[in-house]
Amino acid sequence: MPITPELLELLACPLCHGDLHVDEARPALICPACGLLYPIKDDIPILLPEQAERLQPANGSPDTTPPAA
Ligand SMILES: [Zn+2]
Repeated sequence: MPITPELLELLACPLCHGDLHVDEARPALICPACGLLYPIKDDIPILLPEQAERLQPANGSPDTTPPAA
């Protein structure tokens, strides 16, 4: 099943429960708040922090901002 906007609304980052964004470049979901990229395998998002890739921190934004609960 492809990642639809409706499905994307149901998904949240397992760490901060924030919104996820689809990476345009490759099948993956990005949590900008955590700076993590969750891979999508066989159309299934792998929302496991231990499987996520750390993104380069956005320019200027500190990596230590606590997630909003
Ligand atoms: Zn997050």
